Amino acid sequence: MKPVTVPFFISHQGCPHTCVFCDQRTISGANGNLPTAAEIISRIDLWRSTAADRPLEVAFFGGTFTALPEKIQFELLAPLQPLLESGDIKSVRISTRPDYIDAARVAWLAAKGIRTIELGVQSLDDAVLAASGRGHSAAESLAAISCIKEGGITVGVQLMPGLPGDTPASSLHSLQMAIAAGADFFRIYPTIVLRGTELARHYAAGKFTPLTLDRGVSLCKLLLQRAMQSGIPVIRIGLQADHGLNAENILAGCWHPALGQLVRSQLYADLVCRSVLPGQRVTVFCRPERLSDVVGIKRGNLQKQIDRGVEMVVATDTTLKNEELAIKTEDKTVTYSIISDLHYSIHEV
Ligand code: SF4
Repeated sequence: MKPVTVPFFISHQGCPHTCVFCDQRTISGANGNLPTAAEIISRIDLWRSTAADRPLEVAFFGGTFTALPEKIQFELLAPLQPLLESGDIKSVRISTRPDYIDAARVAWLAAKGIRTIELGVQSLDDAVLAASGRGHSAAESLAAISCIKEGGITVGVQLMPGLPGDTPASSLHSLQMAIAAGADFFRIYPTIVLRGTELARHYAAGKFTPLTLDRGVSLCKLLLQRAMQSGIPVIRIGLQADHGLNAENILAGCWHPALGQLVRSQLYADLVCRSVLPGQRVTVFCRPERLSDVVGIKRGNLQKQIDRGVEMVVATDTTLKNEELAIKTEDKTVTYSIISDLHYSIHEV
């Protein structure tokens, strides 16, 4: 059963760096205070009351957990220990930077109940990392992924396509290197220009050109498909529109409140376009969970087919896999897959 996540945002706490794109206060919406033991317990109680039978997972998002003073890391994790022992919470997840990971830290975190570490890798291209003010190398990120895996902890990799100096090819290379290093899942956050950041100054001075929404969707589509081909889940595409992030803070870049859906919808739209000829009348079957992706935001995929002269009806079929569409024409039904029947080239992005 999928756990319910009890989130704590520890906004920029513990991070001595200033990446050019980062305004953690904007992203997390928190005021920089860390939760007390009493606040941690009371929030867990609150979430438990709504979680029904689902297990709870506590997550410390936003900051660089392992760069916090050890005393503070201990104080944040201490109230969770009895709850882990009693089974009231199942696991703990943190996020951090690659250069604040080593075998001793991983062993200590594993002993404290941390089961997942999300690493802000962003890119595995040293030139992109340097231009983005990250302050660590690609080699450090790869070493951190291995170290976490060896410590028996699940490792999630956050990537940011569209950083200064990045290209679609280097984004794809970063994803492939992270897969080869053992990433268990991805979050893909295309770069956006936030008010008040160094990147906003570069953008205003004409020194940085962000990804547009269209190009970002095309690139994310390619990255998502490559991750799916390797069997690695992408659990999120695009920053969430809550926690203080809103249209006023975003000056430019690839952002949409439902970016993940936009990307998935495009994969299904491409599959229909490549499998159905103009003038045909078809019924497209998909898994019920994928219905809104296949129909598209504001029925955009249906309209796309109308514009091509295709009469398309969408229906559900629980025997299909998530990635499959069964397309029924007058004389036959053929099943296609967004994983194996779409062939994107990096030059299309
Ligand atoms: S490492 Fe993370 S928290 Fe620190 S400045 Fe960079 S993006 Fe912000």
